[in-house]
Amino acid sequence: MKKAVYVTSPLLPPLEEFTPYLEQIWQNKQLTNAGPFHQQLERALADYLGVEHLSLFSNGTLALLTALQALRVTGEVITTPYSFVATSHTLLWNDLTPVFVDIDPVTCNLDAEKIEQAITPRTTAIMPVHCYGVPCNVERIQQIADIYGLKVIYDAAHAFGVKQHGRTVLEHGDLSILSFHATKVFNTIEGGAIICRDAKMKKRIDYLKNFGFADETTVVAAGINGKMNEVQAAFGLLQLKHIDSALEKRAALDARYRELLMDVPGVTLMPFPEETEWNHAYFPVRIGDEYPLSRDELYALLKQNNIMSRRYFYPLISSFPMYRGLASATQSLLPVANQIANEILCLPIYPDLEHDEQEEIANIIKAVTVSSATSVLDEAV
Ligand SMILES: *Cc1c(COP(=O)(O)O)cnc(C)c1O
Repeated sequence: MKKAVYVTSPLLPPLEEFTPYLEQIWQNKQLTNAGPFHQQLERALADYLGVEHLSLFSNGTLALLTALQALRVTGEVITTPYSFVATSHTLLWNDLTPVFVDIDPVTCNLDAEKIEQAITPRTTAIMPVHCYGVPCNVERIQQIADIYGLKVIYDAAHAFGVKQHGRTVLEHGDLSILSFHATKVFNTIEGGAIICRDAKMKKRIDYLKNFGFADETTVVAAGINGKMNEVQAAFGLLQLKHIDSALEKRAALDARYRELLMDVPGVTLMPFPEETEWNHAYFPVRIGDEYPLSRDELYALLKQNNIMSRRYFYPLISSFPMYRGLASATQSLLPVANQIANEILCLPIYPDLEHDEQEEIANIIKAVTVSSATSVLDEAV
């Protein structure tokens, strides 16, 4: 491959379409603090996503941090080891104890059937992740939360635009968090949001993201600075005009990969989630024992060919030094997560990925199995 192909490439609107927005900001002379573009984007995103209340943030991590504060979560929080580190880091930043629970071998999401056995008197919340945009077992999780009186905060950083049974996945739990980082399906360069259920909670979240200010002279909490600025918000409004076509291109790329890689021995594709309008945020494959190379050997081979796949998620969060000491981080308690972390590889997928690039990626993966089959034949002869 002549030019390097990365696992993702940011969605960027045509530059000339952005200039009028910038001119407007220069005219308004309001750069941040819930300016006009910020207000427009909150409304437009809520409408697009099919939710009632949404609060913008400068990034997804601050949104997660603030969500935990907004719900006054304390003690232990049940979460997944199979995610980006920010999920658990926000627990440590809030002085909470992550309790890792193993994942489901099909969806790669928190295994709802293993949650109950991890609940202790100190448990106050569950923080699952819709990994790769695949919906969690939301009904079962809510059922457990109701029985034990727990809050549910979804890290929905991967789940922009995902619907199941015709409804947005963002309506589940007490709060859901989105990330609009450059690498995500929808981006505002950096950015994020909290989706909540009522106006009162949105008000509290809006105070918390602005140092706790309720008005000019009233500070109601030790809030943080999590505000999205006007340039980011304007960028988001423009992105929203292009998001449907970006999602269509992702769906087509996903379908093409499935055709190309359908029958490769040892390569397992993520099953299509049931009754779901998926966003194809990632294209994860599992490299099993039947494949002639280990996952890391294939990763290296692709890299030699200028294709930068990524091992999302490896290593597991629970194996990083700041988590290793926790009882729930013990490797033998997380067999599924450990196995998948050792087999997973995310292949490049983004709207501008070209057909011949995609074919070359698939060809490299397939050629290994063909040549090893030939060498087995050779030996037999
Ligand atoms: C990207 C991501 C985050 C962090 O979001 P930022 O906007 O980069 O702060 C959190 N959780 C998951 C699962 C992510 O993929």
